[in-house]
Amino acid sequence: MKTIKVSVVTPDGPVYESDVEMVSTKAQSGDLGILPGHIPLVAPLVIGGVRLKKDGKTEHIAVSGGFLEVRPDQVTVLAQTAELASNINVERAQRARERAEQRLQGQQQEHIDFKRAELALQRAINRLAVSEGKR
Ligand code: ATP
Repeated sequence: MKTIKVSVVTPDGPVYESDVEMVSTKAQSGDLGILPGHIPLVAPLVIGGVRLKKDGKTEHIAVSGGFLEVRPDQVTVLAQTAELASNINVERAQRARERAEQRLQGQQQEHIDFKRAELALQRAINRLAVSEGKR
């Protein structure tokens, strides 16, 4: 089976590096599936999951946006944050989701930054979904 080298990196350092058979993720323009030999591409990602298929198994990684770059011999995901499903702290994500939901419900309070709370909610929901292998 043909493979392509994949790196998932954040400002804190590399999170994943391996040769895989397929990379699937969600770009702002829609779902993307990258197989070896894919044409070069740069695509902005949404808060979502990156799935890496190898030897009949799929590794799930939560990313908070960023970019996917496809080059002839290498795929790079550059994200502000990225966590392997097995490294996601589920309780922390549940607490983050509750905090964000409370902020979004407190609409009478003027100084709440709703966009920020909305993004925090999306990150938390995404981490919970990725930790269950659902993204
Ligand atoms: P929290 O409010 O819990 O910090 P957050 O969405 O604001 O959540 P980020 O700013 O996206 O957190 O991430 C800060 C750092 O913490 C990053 O390194 C990220 O990988 C890590 N991180 C955040 N939430 C989790 C989690 N539930 N499990 C593991 N790592 C996490």
